[in-house]
Order: sequence, then structure tokens, then C-alpha cells
Amino acid sequence: MKRILVTGGSGFLGSHLCDKLLQEGNEVLCVDNLFTGRKVNIEHLSSHKKFEFLRHDITFPLYVEVDEIYNLACPASPIHYQFDPVQTTKTSVLGAINMLGLAKRLKVRILQASTSEVYGDPEIHPQPESYKGSVSTTGIRACYDEGKRCSETLFFDYHRQHGLDIKVMRIFNTYGPRMNPDDGRVVSNFIVQALRGEDITIFGDGMQTRSFCYVSDLIDGMYKLMNSKKGFTGPVNIGNPVEFTMLELAELVIKLTESKSKLRFLPLPQDDPLQRQPIIQLAKEELGWEPKVKLEEGLIESIKYFKSII
Ligand code: NAD
Ligand code: UDP
Ligand code: UDP
Repeated sequence: MKRILVTGGSGFLGSHLCDKLLQEGNEVLCVDNLFTGRKVNIEHLSSHKKFEFLRHDITFPLYVEVDEIYNLACPASPIHYQFDPVQTTKTSVLGAINMLGLAKRLKVRILQASTSEVYGDPEIHPQPESYKGSVSTTGIRACYDEGKRCSETLFFDYHRQHGLDIKVMRIFNTYGPRMNPDDGRVVSNFIVQALRGEDITIFGDGMQTRSFCYVSDLIDGMYKLMNSKKGFTGPVNIGNPVEFTMLELAELVIKLTESKSKLRFLPLPQDDPLQRQPIIQLAKEELGWEPKVKLEEGLIESIKYFKSII
């Protein structure tokens, strides 16, 4: 049994990770400032003897005693990370420094939830981990993309300079129950709109692509990476390589919800990547991981969840 720190633990991915770590018999310290996270995501854990919640902003130092750290704190949806972009960069950069300082003092393993956004609007397709990315330093997505890129740099410098045991995971678009209905990301938007009979908002012509990973597959990959052999640092892509256009996604959501919603075309946001698909060869070889849940199955589970809360 370990005592494990999960930053961002009351968010979408973090709350599923807390569940998984408790199921494995660990103690969990969930640290979150509740910016985009919600207490309802961890309500079912509040009376669990091995679960503890601490409201704290990781841009400030944190002195606790733990055996392992998963650093997930950071808003992930464009509308939320663009709401206070300076705070977004601070969370990625100062947050990483504080969590790395904590890991250094405690001499414990630390995992960073990085993102496919480090590839920006990619010029090569699909993306291997060796691709260095095409990111605007000045655009409206840069606070997130560049913040995450800098956090990766910090992880690798703490590894080289201080011998820290690090794991860096590049997460591709993930969806599932406990996404915030107001999150603004495409899967939650389309499902909520379809269930309410509102227009489905397609940004641009809807021909841009994403590859969607179901949350249980993602958490399985994250756990396998954290428990992989010492010296395997990553970065490693974790995502589902099956690629869809936003139009295909909208049509599938309409079919599964039996909705009468119509499509409404809106302008494409600035710097919106046209395509994104992971190469997951490294995860297969090093972690024995690959996703199992098909988009349709995952959407059915997500639709059940959104029906129950809206
Ligand atoms: P989320 O917004 O649901 O969760 C993020 C959590 O971090 C929230 O609970 C929020 O309150 C908390 N947080 C934000 N700033 C904080 C701060 N300064 N101090 C403490 N807590 C803070 O998003 P998510 O989808 O669960 O994403 C979790 C992590 O995974 C993020 O780091 C995100 O960048 C990364 N990621 C997610 C996806 C995805 O598709 N879901 C894709 C790539 C990367
Ligand atoms: N830190 C923390 N918790 C700890 C140890 C360090 O939050 O248990 C923070 C500390 O505030 C510092 C940062 O982590 O600013 C980086 O720590 P490090 O030891 O690398 O740097 P230094 O303290 O030498 O600036
Ligand atoms: N998108 C859309 N309608 C929406 C929300 C998003 O068409 O209501 C598009 C968005 O422009 C992007 C894709 O869906 O091309 C994925 O957007 P999301 O914000 O989920 O993730 P990210 O852009 O960070 O991959």
C-alpha cells in the first residue's frame, strides 16, 4: 500500500484515477483548487477511510508526505484554460516546479499529465513522440500548449539534474462520465446539445479530426506508465488512434441519442488544430497497453451519464 498524491483529483480524469488507486488498495491524497473540478466527482469517496481531500492551488508550495505523485492539475478545456491564461501557465510551470520540488525532497516517483497539444497544429500525421511540434507562442492556445511544453522540460531537467524518477504521458482527447457538462469540449457539448434538442455547434466545416479515448482506457494506460520499469521516462502517447471528423462525431451522437437536433456551423476558433492522431507503438511495446473501448461503446456510457445529471 502506498500513500499517493493526485493533483487535479476532483477533475474529470483525476477523479477516475482516485477511484482506480483506491481500488488497488492505496491511500489517496487528492489536492485540487476546484477551478474546473467538482466536489460531486469525489462525493462517493468522502467517507472512504483511505481518501483525503485538500483544497489547495499547486502554484503555491505544498508540504505533505507521500510515496508517489500524479500531477494532473490544470484546466484542460479551451474555454476554461483561456479564461485566465496567466493562471494556466502558472499552473503548468509553477505547479510543476512545486510538485517536482516535493518529489525531489521525498525522493519519490512523479508522473506528469502532458498533452497531445505539445504537437500544436501538427505538420506530420499521425504523431510519434519524436515529433517536436508546431505551436504558436503568441496565440490564444499558447498558455496551455507552451505551459505543458515547459512542464515537460522541467520534468526532464529535474530527471537529468537531480536524478528524479519521472514519467511523462502525452494524453490525447479523452471523454467519458464526469466530464463537466459546461466543460466546452466537443464530446460533452455534442451530447448535452443532442439530449436537450439544441443545435449541435460545429466549429468550422467539421472536417477537422480528433482521436477519442475512453476514460477507462486512459486511466489504465496512466497506471501502467506509473508502474513501468525505472528508467522508462517517456514521453509516451496515450490515446485511441481511431480518427473521426467532428461531423462524423456529431452524426454518431445524434444517432445514439435519437435526437432531432440540427447542425449549426460556427467559425473555427483561432489555432484550432486540423487533425490529430497518436502513434501508440511505444505504449504497446513498453507498457503492453492499447485501448479497448470503441467510440460507440464509450459514447453510450457517456450519454447515460449526461442523461442522469442534466
Ligand atoms: P479537468 O479540468 O476536469 O481537471 C483538472 C483539475 O485540475 C480540476 O479539478 C481543476 O480544479 C484542477 N486544477 C486546475 N488548476 C489547479 C491548480 N492551480 N491547483 C490545483 N488544482 C487545479 O480536466 P481533465 O480532463 O481531467 O484533465 C486532467 C489533466 O489531463 C490536465 O492536466 C490536462 O491538461 C490533461 N489532459 C487531459 C486531456 C483530456 O482530453 N481530458 C487531454 C490531454 C491532457
Ligand atoms: N517545494 C514544495 N514542497 C516540498 C519541497 C519543495 O512545494 O516539499 C517547492 C518549493 O517551494 C520550491 C520548489 O518546490 O520552490 C522547487 O523545489 P527545489 O528544491 O527544486 O528548488 P529550491 O527550493 O532550491 O528553489
Ligand atoms: N468543436 C466543435 N464544436 C464544439 C466544441 C468543439 O466543433 O461545440 C471542435 C473544436 O473546434 C475542435 C474539436 O471539436 O476542432 C475538439 O475540440 P475540444 O475543445 O474538445 O478539444 P481540442 O481542440 O483541445 O482537441
